[in-house]
Amino acid sequence: TEEVRLNRFLARAGVASRRGADDIIAERRVRVNGEIVTEMGSKVSPTDRVEVDGRPITPAGLVYILLNKPTDTITTADDEKGRKTVLDLVDLEGGEGDALFPVGRLDRNTTGALLLTTDGDLAHRLMHPRYGANKLYLATTERPVTAPEIEALRAGVELEDGLAKADQVGYVDEDKRKVALALHEGRNRQVRRMLEHLGHEVNALERVGYAGLDLSGLRRGRWRRLQAHEVNMLR
Ligand code: URA
Repeated sequence: TEEVRLNRFLARAGVASRRGADDIIAERRVRVNGEIVTEMGSKVSPTDRVEVDGRPITPAGLVYILLNKPTDTITTADDEKGRKTVLDLVDLEGGEGDALFPVGRLDRNTTGALLLTTDGDLAHRLMHPRYGANKLYLATTERPVTAPEIEALRAGVELEDGLAKADQVGYVDEDKRKVALALHEGRNRQVRRMLEHLGHEVNALERVGYAGLDLSGLRRGRWRRLQAHEVNMLR
């Protein structure tokens, strides 16, 4: 991994000029992996967590947000019927959020991990049907899912738009009404349609993981900026 001097890293990220970054460092406002760094010559690598005034720093002015989407919100930039959208929940200041868009889509009543970004290249790659990001869903069904049905979800069920299968499937608890499914595809309403195909009614659907990001520490309806090392992991 490529190491760079901390002032250079901050300047590249648009925090300040290189000289200005030195001042910010001297003012003890910069933390690397949680520790205040004051040494001018110190270096950081792409996996280090860098914060200025407690705010995570990501490269080159691009914005990366992880939202824990609540129910009854639409994943679109602008809803013509005036319904609440995921962008209504992300209150960025100063026009920073103008170019922000959601990566992929969660249904209105699906909850959980949704990435929003201004980075079109990254979004394109994460949404690619073949190399798409890994996604982990928890589905709660009205009646228990049987062992043969688990097997069918793994082997693939034939939907109108072709065979759909989960990379991994398993029960979450003894009740068998909660199932975890790992997928890298992301067709429209795919998880719901797979379960409905087997005659199941889906009472709740939550995405608990997206491309290695999880919801830990993020309450429903809240969002946070990704740290630089998380962005590097995605790219
Ligand atoms: N699969 C679905 O059925 N709905 C979602 O929102 C996401 C995946």
